[in-house]
Amino acid sequence: MLGRLATWLRLLGADVTYEPWISDADLMERARNEGRLVLTRDRGLLGLPDPVPRFGVTFDRLPDQLVQVATHFDLTAFVPFSRCVRCNVVVKVIPKESVKGRVWEYVYDTQELFTECPVCGRLFWKGTHPTRAREDLRRMLGEDIARRIRW
Ligand SMILES: [Zn+2]
Repeated sequence: MLGRLATWLRLLGADVTYEPWISDADLMERARNEGRLVLTRDRGLLGLPDPVPRFGVTFDRLPDQLVQVATHFDLTAFVPFSRCVRCNVVVKVIPKESVKGRVWEYVYDTQELFTECPVCGRLFWKGTHPTRAREDLRRMLGEDIARRIRW
């Protein structure tokens, strides 16, 4: 139910796992083992007597959900675009020479900083996340919150 929220939180740099098919018991077990906070819309899950911290997302629309989470938690601790959105791992800076032949020549000639996902091998550079994603985030979060983020 919160798949899009999970994706955008990863874009903001947060460590977010998303498993819509996991059972409540397995979810709580995993959160406990990994020291995670559970974001959910499921009242049953929120009501379980369990010490695992949970946060109830009460909105239907993605922008409202993002603002609710950003208002309640300090998202300024995260570095946007520092994580592979697909694998949820922090990307690593790699030497420019190592991407020769793996990216378009134009990209190689115009970019200096390259990062790579250690899991899926996807390469990123400044232009990978178009200005569009930044603008979408700014628009959804609003200026007050967006101003505090370390872009
Ligand atoms: Zn990846």
